[in-house]
Amino acid sequence: MTPPVVIESKPSAQPLSDGERTALMAAPGFGRDFTDHMVTIRWTEGRGWHDGLLSPFAPLTLSPAALVLHYAQTIFEGLKAYRQPDGSVAVFRPESNARRFRESARRLAMPELPEDVFVAAIEALVTQDAAWVPDSRESSLYLRPFLFATEPGLGIRPAREYLFTVIASPSGSYFPDGVRPLSVWISDDYVRAAPGGTGAAKCGGNYAASLLAQAQAAERGCDQVVWLDAVERRWVEEMGGMNLYFVYEDGRIVTPLLSGSLLPGITRHSLLRVAADLGHEAVESRVSVHDWRRECAEGRIAEVFACGTAAVITPVGSVRSTRGDWTVGDGRPGPLTMRLREALLDIQTGRVPDHHGWMHRLAHAVPSAPACPPQGADLA
Ligand SMILES: *Cc1c(COP(=O)(O)O)cnc(C)c1O
Repeated sequence: MTPPVVIESKPSAQPLSDGERTALMAAPGFGRDFTDHMVTIRWTEGRGWHDGLLSPFAPLTLSPAALVLHYAQTIFEGLKAYRQPDGSVAVFRPESNARRFRESARRLAMPELPEDVFVAAIEALVTQDAAWVPDSRESSLYLRPFLFATEPGLGIRPAREYLFTVIASPSGSYFPDGVRPLSVWISDDYVRAAPGGTGAAKCGGNYAASLLAQAQAAERGCDQVVWLDAVERRWVEEMGGMNLYFVYEDGRIVTPLLSGSLLPGITRHSLLRVAADLGHEAVESRVSVHDWRRECAEGRIAEVFACGTAAVITPVGSVRSTRGDWTVGDGRPGPLTMRLREALLDIQTGRVPDHHGWMHRLAHAVPSAPACPPQGADLA
């Protein structure tokens, strides 16, 4: 039997003072500032997972020959911890991220971190740095677990040594000036992923390969790139690093079917349920770019939005492409888009009961502000 993975705790002797942390968190950006700590766990062939450690956030030391730098064996996850009304902290669906992380690892011939160890690492970091979880509705603590090949060598084969790391960054509202619809560019020149490729895995290489298309979208004056399928260049897959949803005038909502080349988003999956809870038929189906355009013109598609952990839900207001440009609805955020966004945020921030069992509460996280002592409590 393999021994359990223990995460030893060696916290920082000099965490930021309350004042310094509060100043940093006054206007959190996205992925700019990091909390005081990180968690690392090593994997070595023959030994498995070992040396679990919670330690001060610090640079890593890596051989210039580390296999990740040459052949890109690296995967990641993104999830959030939210402050709850009672001051406690809960993480949204970490078990789902743990499962997807294992699937990404398998696709890149990397070792699969047991799901309970993934969740334990998240718990250890968020519990230690609970004071970094913001408490305004649109804010959260963004968690970034990742795994990469550390073994030095230039031979092309799966590495025999890896490092799993979790870091955390306070994240403010994605829309500090209110929700704004995005403009998108449909890429003809590039595809994100092809059948048999790595599109369903959350790996760094997918992102490196997407940046040029994103730059092209920006050149066309658009905020984001929309990807079509690689074979027919006909079916809508995703937008940048987010999944897409189409809202029809009859209240039905449709998200592109998991094709094997698009990323199975956890927000996407959650919204299928939340939409059903609100009484909307929510289905996975193919959507062609031709129908997107035609049904917008006919008024049958009323709203389009993108979804993912970072922004939750982002309305799509206008589309540009080599086939023409069009507007979605009246170009403004649609009512169902905004209702779904509020409904999901209500669950994440603990404003409504969590019927789906999605919120993973931390047992020992300290509240951000000292709670009022109960009457008659012994304060000594
Ligand atoms: C992470 C990601 C998503 C969204 O997934 P969530 O689990 O909802 O955050 C969508 N598309 C791509 C390409 C991604 O990497």
